[in-house]
Amino acid sequence: MDRYQVLIVGAGFSGAEAAFRLASQGVRVGLLTQSLDSVMMPFLPPKPPFPKGSLLERAYDPKDPRPWAFHARAKYLLEGERNLHLFQATATGLLLEGERVVGVRTWEGPPALADKVVLAVGSFLGARLLMGEVEEEAGRLSEASYPDLLENLLSLGFRFVEREGSVPETPSTPGYRVRYLAFHPEEWEEGTFRLKRLEGLYAVGLCVREGDYALMGEEGKRLAEHLLHELG
Ligand code: FAD
Repeated sequence: MDRYQVLIVGAGFSGAEAAFRLASQGVRVGLLTQSLDSVMMPFLPPKPPFPKGSLLERAYDPKDPRPWAFHARAKYLLEGERNLHLFQATATGLLLEGERVVGVRTWEGPPALADKVVLAVGSFLGARLLMGEVEEEAGRLSEASYPDLLENLLSLGFRFVEREGSVPETPSTPGYRVRYLAFHPEEWEEGTFRLKRLEGLYAVGLCVREGDYALMGEEGKRLAEHLLHELG
């Protein structure tokens, strides 16, 4: 089984950006995500300006802003990186050796092992999606949120705060809200992205700070630069 230098959980806007940058610099990266159909999938078309040189910028085509086409271009670019292994799995908990995180357990069975683990799970921790009368366990429309990872993090003592995001109604799509949990600000160190409770564990994106797609991309790049520095 591969052991990655960096394993990123969640191929959304922050996780995919970080993985792309790290892999382009020769780091062996695993990018594990719950569904390959939602890799860097926007709900509304992303709007420039984007971080310079980012995956977000490269995947954007002003002549074809359709969310599905944007997702397909981003996925193609990720899959073209030889140091990057993009694969579908759902993380259900952290694997520990003492106080050090050495990988994640997956719902599918095989563990994913790494020297450093990044949680980039967006609005999927404890998520409730509300649309009119309908309420379901989903981090985004049509994307289920499973309780296992959150339960594991709670059992390890992590604290969370409640957050909410919303999508306005458009002529072709319904509006909806998502209530979710983000790490408590005291759990996370902004400068190093570390979740300080354990060694080798980092978090990026909406699970630690709010912002739009461009900020998530910026944060993904910033995390990659920090990890490149740590890896020497
Ligand atoms: P995401 O892009 O959500 O990616 C997280 C990924 O992690 C997902 O692919 C998910 O499948 C995966 N994942 C989660 N748990 C696991 C697990 N246990 N195992 C494996 N994979 C897992 N910003 C905008 O600029 N424009 C918008 O229109 C916009 N709409 C938003 C709507 C809502 C409802 C919310 C909550 C936020 C919105 N935002 C929007 C803000 C933010 O920019 C986006 O949510 C952005 O997608 C967050 O990036 P991220 O990388 O943190 O998470």
